Amino acid sequence: MTEFAADSILVLLEVAPTGALASSSAGLLGAAASIGTPVALVVAPADTLPTLAASAGELGAATVLTSALGDGDDALTVPVVDALTAASTLVRPDAVLISNSIEGRDVAGRFAVRSHSALSVDAVGVARDDEGVLAQHSVYGGAFNATSAPTFGAPVITVRQGAIDARAAAVAAPAVVPLEVAASGAAAARVTGFTAQQSASSRPELRGAAKVVSGGRGLGSAEKFVLVEQLADTLGAAVGASRAAVDAGYVPYSAQVGQTGVSVAPQLYIALGISGAIQHKAGMQTAKTIVAINKDGDAPIFDIADYGIVGDVFQVVPQLIAALDAKKG
Ligand code: FAD
Repeated sequence: MTEFAADSILVLLEVAPTGALASSSAGLLGAAASIGTPVALVVAPADTLPTLAASAGELGAATVLTSALGDGDDALTVPVVDALTAASTLVRPDAVLISNSIEGRDVAGRFAVRSHSALSVDAVGVARDDEGVLAQHSVYGGAFNATSAPTFGAPVITVRQGAIDARAAAVAAPAVVPLEVAASGAAAARVTGFTAQQSASSRPELRGAAKVVSGGRGLGSAEKFVLVEQLADTLGAAVGASRAAVDAGYVPYSAQVGQTGVSVAPQLYIALGISGAIQHKAGMQTAKTIVAINKDGDAPIFDIADYGIVGDVFQVVPQLIAALDAKKG
């Protein structure tokens, strides 16, 4: 029988629609390694599990628990919660880390209720003290840092995508442990049909992107918003937007960054023609480096920017693109 370290941290890894591990996996395993011994759980179709387990090892999982989804299993979330329940009973971890994605939040909430665990959501860091694992949060629009800790048991923590820089050392041959999972029979939503939507974009997805270029009302129109896309493509960045830009119809809602949009924590965030309202800052303030270009030197975005340029985006950005192209050339 596999022995698990006393400081084990159980990490649920998600599988992307491409069939590979989701991009959140490296940060989750890096976070786990910084506070204990990472044990990964992967729930996926049986024929994909060996490849996914090897990928989990490359990202630092010494042990990978696997649970095979049944053929044609169309139930949402519940099979993963069932597998997490079995994994947690086996490993007795000090904490369970899950991505703060849509599916991750669903799994985390259900699992916390089922296991009577404390739930900490949207952590941007994890740590350990004498009493156990702590979750660090950026709250009130990034104005305060807060730390949460359970008063009992192992916490279930959802981790903001892109927030963790730490990476675990690769493990060449991780121990792979197939789980025996008892189906709970809990009520589950079921997928009865779907239409695949092919995205023509070669840009990275906003959520979890390492670089983001966002545009605001200052761009003036959907046609002129192309400037944001041009800079994003020059940098290999995802495209984001303020709510004002979305409301004005420059870009779809899926690009909205902020309190009522996507929260991002990239290495680089460039804000073009964005004033820096608190609701926008709430979704990007944990970016490692923030660059703002705005023609109003008093715009609040400059309060949190590491680098600021007071100027017209239509003059500054083309020069920036030309300089970046020249550097590449
Ligand atoms: P503005 O505030 O109008 O700023 C435009 C900026 O562009 C100005 O600073 C101006 O100086 C600059 N500018 C203009 N022309 C140029 C130029 N040629 N070159 C350079 N700079 C130029 N907002 C979000 O972004 N995300 C959210 O999730 C969100 N959720 C909200 C939730 C609630 C409940 C509420 C009440 C509001 C929310 N908002 C959100 C809206 C938020 O309060 C702001 O209205 C919005 O962020 C402003 O967008 P903006 O910075 O693009 O526009």
